[in-house]
Amino acid sequence: MSRVVVVTTGGTIATSTGADGVARPTQTGDDLTAGLHTGVDVDVVDLMAVDSSQVQPADWDRMRAAVASAARAGADGVVITHGTDTMEETALWLELTHHGDLPVVLTGAMRSADAEDADGPANLHDAVTLAANPDARGIGVVVTLAGTIWQPLGLTKTGAGFVGVDVTPGPRRRPSLGEVIAATAPRVDVVATYAGSDAVALDACVAAGARGVVLETLGSGNAAHAVIEGVRRACAAGVAVVLSSRVPGARVTVGYGPGRMLVDAGAVVAATLPPPQSRVLLAAALTAGQPVAEVFARWSDVPEVRPAAVR
Ligand code: ASP
Repeated sequence: MSRVVVVTTGGTIATSTGADGVARPTQTGDDLTAGLHTGVDVDVVDLMAVDSSQVQPADWDRMRAAVASAARAGADGVVITHGTDTMEETALWLELTHHGDLPVVLTGAMRSADAEDADGPANLHDAVTLAANPDARGIGVVVTLAGTIWQPLGLTKTGAGFVGVDVTPGPRRRPSLGEVIAATAPRVDVVATYAGSDAVALDACVAAGARGVVLETLGSGNAAHAVIEGVRRACAAGVAVVLSSRVPGARVTVGYGPGRMLVDAGAVVAATLPPPQSRVLLAAALTAGQPVAEVFARWSDVPEVRPAAVR
């Protein structure tokens, strides 16, 4: 019989709703797996029980350690249950740092475990079944919810669920940045831009020790002149600045004057990768000591998150 290790970290898949109407993680791994009928032997590791807004980079190292110990123990696959708010960030970090053939499947839920129409049990069933599937060897880290399997790169939570690049069980092209330790990653911030924005936030991030900044630019990669000046200062100080867009589905083309000035100031383009995942990719690249421009040229253009053609 196949054996899968289920690592729990919290999230809506594990919540019940208190008398105050607030959903908090209360369900253990044994609770979550009690009703599973997959024909798979399941071991549980209760790693954390948090809303995923509380997940820290050091927790990604703990998840990786749990995966490594499952691999050493001869498991066929690993499932990680996780809140959906930051699932795209955890999944990408794990993807960038996971090696080998062991499938690692993240799943969660959009509705609380105590809801009548809870989606967690079906998602967990799918995740365990996938992790145990011999065809999934080499698939790396994937996310499954609502019957779809996604690669981490390009995955984005929206109001209506996730959008991203779906995959099928089997080996695939996986981005990798080596065995880097998240707890040693330098500070990397995301800075918003908007009509009338200045460089106060950007300068503050640099002053706080940021070694990388993802600028959540306007449209196809633009920002106000005061921000461009801040980017110039940051780049001159050796801070890696990456241009992502605040527009869902946008492509950063830097085809306008301000965008060109940002690139001339030393900023690197994240073609279609949204700000949260650009931040993870930048942090991993800096931690691994890899050239930021090369990493983003190679991995930030995720075709399926391109905008639809505008007529
Ligand atoms: N706030 C929850 C979390 O990310 C949302 C969810 O799991 O869907 O932990």
